Amino acid sequence: MYGWTGKLLHVDLTSGTCERREIPTEILHAYLGGRGLGVRLMRDYFRLDPFDPQMPLIFAVGPLCGTNSPTAARLACVSRSPLTGTIYDCSAGGRFAWRLKGAGLDVVFVTGKSATPVVLAIDGDRAEILAAGELWGKGVKETVAALKGRGSVTAIGPAGENGVLFANIMMGEGNSIGRGGLGAVMGGKLLKAVTVQGEGVTGVADRERFDAARADVMRLFRASPVIFGELGIAEYGTPALVDLMAQRRMAPTENFKSTFFAQSANYSGPAIRKECGAKKEGCYGCPIQCKKASAKGEPLPEYETVNHFGALNGISDLHAIVRANTLCNELGLDTISAAATLSAFGEARGRFPDPVEVDRLLTDMAFRRGDGELLCQGSRRVAEALGKPGLSMSVKSLELPAYDPRGAYGMALAYVTSNRGGCHLRAYPISHEILRKPVPTDRFSFSGKARIIKIAEDVNAAVDSLVACKFAFFGATLEEYGELLSAVTGVEYGPESLKAIGERIYLTERFYNCANGFSMKDDLLPERFYSEPGSAGEGIEIPPLDRARFQEELQKYYRIRGLSPDGTFDDASLLEKLP
Ligand code: SF4
Repeated sequence: MYGWTGKLLHVDLTSGTCERREIPTEILHAYLGGRGLGVRLMRDYFRLDPFDPQMPLIFAVGPLCGTNSPTAARLACVSRSPLTGTIYDCSAGGRFAWRLKGAGLDVVFVTGKSATPVVLAIDGDRAEILAAGELWGKGVKETVAALKGRGSVTAIGPAGENGVLFANIMMGEGNSIGRGGLGAVMGGKLLKAVTVQGEGVTGVADRERFDAARADVMRLFRASPVIFGELGIAEYGTPALVDLMAQRRMAPTENFKSTFFAQSANYSGPAIRKECGAKKEGCYGCPIQCKKASAKGEPLPEYETVNHFGALNGISDLHAIVRANTLCNELGLDTISAAATLSAFGEARGRFPDPVEVDRLLTDMAFRRGDGELLCQGSRRVAEALGKPGLSMSVKSLELPAYDPRGAYGMALAYVTSNRGGCHLRAYPISHEILRKPVPTDRFSFSGKARIIKIAEDVNAAVDSLVACKFAFFGATLEEYGELLSAVTGVEYGPESLKAIGERIYLTERFYNCANGFSMKDDLLPERFYSEPGSAGEGIEIPPLDRARFQEELQKYYRIRGLSPDGTFDDASLLEKLP
């Protein structure tokens, strides 16, 4: 077989066993890898509580990983989120995915719960579960350093050990499996880290076709202003968006009370380069290298992080924002949810935290002490506990990222229809509403957005299953990635068949969620967006959203998806009809 290895490592931490199993070829062809494959493998488990010992934690690579397909050295981690209660996946880059494939694996499927802290060590054909009592309680950096010599590492910090509902799994090279708290699922299993070494080579079915497809992708990358333009992400990383969002008056500020922060230039892409000596970094083998690191090699914050530790908490000190980012990485906390939870807490008590207090509260969150015992549960539970539920700016308990939906109406729809909660990575209408790619749409209109969001969700589910980086699609399309996939695997895929796979994945996720009680009542935006205007700066007016028009478009979305008017499924046997 080309592209895939066809092998899954089944790890049972309760019995302490590791066993290689075959993955049916039909499943690989129908779900590809990464998110899709992980979601399919959850079919017998999605009803379990996220902290049930039998709940799987799935690491899955894709068929392009191990080749030099641009941006494809990635994996997805899939489980059920303790923060949202939804099915959850997150994609992360780094050498780990490449080495996992090199060890002859498409999937590591971890189930059970160890009696004592352990590390799962994979080295080529061998896998063993090692005692890790001395690592428990240690930060991410120290853990990764202690496991040096075992290849690539993915590990949790104190936040994951202590069950923080938005704890990350951190990749040793600085990337993270973020947002939905899969670090807490890993910590619940007493699994401190996974290490992997592997030197195997991924076979390519048609090398000539692959080289031509790769050349096409690279040509489109070079032609994309968003990727390689003067102000693009290769130059400044995602903080390139800071100035753009400020100009469009859609940068969430002080818990989304306004959409403009007068000091945001302090942490723009150019400011970070000047102040921190930012240099290019990136995921293994990626030609874009959008990540940035300080002169000392410390990962620098992304756009979402600078906005949320900045404007969202009323902080303008770049160095304080960088420090909060570093602290989150070390403790294994998700930066978006941590900062947004602090912001909701700040508004509820009438005072946003200053930089010194931010550092203390982040540490308290990770160790669940003092205010941290409440804050570690995320903004929805914090706001409810403080008697102000409307102050949690989240959808399905997942804190919203740094695009105010009052400034881009497609984003309003994308936040509520995302299967993992308020997220910008399921559909990214900012692409056409703000970046005007592939075609511009009116950002202050709902017209046509239901169909656009549906298509984008299907495309992104396919991209997350290849697994490729979404930033690649600021230049390339499924046309070129379909060519790459066909060349690697020897199985014909094109944009339409990939979109059909994405749709299958999306519907499976939504079906799982509905079976667990989710419906239209959860496809809800925070009330503030309907009742308060945005912007506190001069220029563009940002009125509240029109609730009736939003609901109308949501109903249209359900119809296009084949869902009932309450957003659920009429056909209870959907999964039985899918491969
Ligand atoms: S574009 Fe950035 S995030 Fe995406 S794979 Fe490349 S370095 Fe990683």
